Amino acid sequence: MAELEKQEFNPFQKLFEQQKSFFNSNKSKSIDFRLEQLKKLKKVIEAHRQDFYNAIFNDFGKSQFETDVSELSMVIHELNLALKKTKKWSKRKKVSTGFSNFPAKSYIIPEPLGNTLIIGPWNYPIQLAIIPVIAAISAGNTVILKTSELPANTSAVIAKMINENFPAEYLHVVEGAIPETEQLLQLKFDKIFFTGSTPVGKIVYQAAAKNLTPVTLELGGKSPTFVFADCKLKTTVQRLVWAKFLNAGQTCVAPDYILVEDKIKDRFIEALKIEVDKYHPDSDEIRDNFLQIINHRNFDRLCSLIDEKKVCFGGKTNREKRYISPTLLTDVSFEDKIMEDEIFGPILPILSFSNLNETISKVKSMPKPLALYAYTKNRKTVKKLLTEISFGGGAINDSVMQLTNSNLPFGGVGFSGLGSYHGKAGFDTFSHFKSILDKPFWIEPGLKYPPYSNLKLKIIKQLVE
Ligand code: NAD
Repeated sequence: MAELEKQEFNPFQKLFEQQKSFFNSNKSKSIDFRLEQLKKLKKVIEAHRQDFYNAIFNDFGKSQFETDVSELSMVIHELNLALKKTKKWSKRKKVSTGFSNFPAKSYIIPEPLGNTLIIGPWNYPIQLAIIPVIAAISAGNTVILKTSELPANTSAVIAKMINENFPAEYLHVVEGAIPETEQLLQLKFDKIFFTGSTPVGKIVYQAAAKNLTPVTLELGGKSPTFVFADCKLKTTVQRLVWAKFLNAGQTCVAPDYILVEDKIKDRFIEALKIEVDKYHPDSDEIRDNFLQIINHRNFDRLCSLIDEKKVCFGGKTNREKRYISPTLLTDVSFEDKIMEDEIFGPILPILSFSNLNETISKVKSMPKPLALYAYTKNRKTVKKLLTEISFGGGAINDSVMQLTNSNLPFGGVGFSGLGSYHGKAGFDTFSHFKSILDKPFWIEPGLKYPPYSNLKLKIIKQLVE
């Protein structure tokens, strides 16, 4: 009995009830209110800029430059966009009405889903938590944000920044790990937005299903990167190396593995080595431009993936500093251990191919990836890859940069995710689209009412079909 009572007590119930009452007061729906909150969020983020630099450095050893480029600038960009567009996005949209409903009008009203839960991951702990919050506010919802427990310093700054500046009944940060997330998942939210791994995504989906709560799942996966012989090699390696080793490879859309055409394999690997070396990674110190692995568990996992016989560059590790130098592995096959799961670290396996159709079939036999990249000048090859392989999103002759365009909805497909966000797509993700047929009283043709007749049916068919 005591056990049962213990299970039933939920420490977040009260907060949730308060957010429910607040949403029911309709305050969060007003466009002026939404814009005020977005402006306030922008102001408090600017006021905490230095705290974020310090926290991210303490959690990852990451430089201010990278924190600006990969975290804060993206957040400010989304905030500016939402401030500019929220009014437009929230407008009802008129659509045409068939003659059978004359003289009605038809329109679609975006309405907030209500009380939302956002669960963040650790790898870009600011932007992956705050950008969904911006979308939720812009769409008129209340939010409970559960930050990731791993970057503890950054999580503390986000919690302090939000909880000291916003009423808990509207927007509140809960810090915590698995138990807290499980408790939150028991509540009957109107929307759950989750970013994290595929296995935890399944747990979230199951919990949401009990309440038929709509979910967005931003998950991971092994993102393939095709390099063809006709690419411009220098630019290819430049873009690829930056994208792979950014955040020490701990990026959900990082190129996970390379598929290079046989005939340029050796030249490509040589060019890669020269490019990686420019980052001066092989130093005993953690450099400004190369950061730490988040924790020892991930450090050990990554080290176990390095097959020393296949290392052609890097492979240097330091457990105390949680440092793994950018590592290139050659002669890798699809059967190797490193090809089983998403790598999520600074190790780049290189596989070569000569038969494109066979390689495409192999990629298609694996779970649908979050991203795919192809480096080639041949538009037919591009078309073939885009048509034949299903994946979340990607880039041609670039990697990762697709994220910086808010006009491109960002999300996965299949095991790499469900739904999308960024820009207008984020607003839509946190909205329900209410369809309305709006009819005046002044005329009512009697066609659909009894007594039925063949003539009436003939007219109805002409109007409807
Ligand atoms: P994770 O799934 O371990 O954790 C994500 C969140 O879920 C955290 O807040 C954590 O506290 C919580 N959590 C963890 N285990 C849980 C459990 N058993 N029950 C309930 N909640 C739980 O993911 P992570 O390690 O933080 O992030 C890495 C993964 O996220 C990678 O797979 C990466 O590809 C993916 N990712 C995807 C995106 C994207 O936008 N698609 C972005 C970043 C990371």
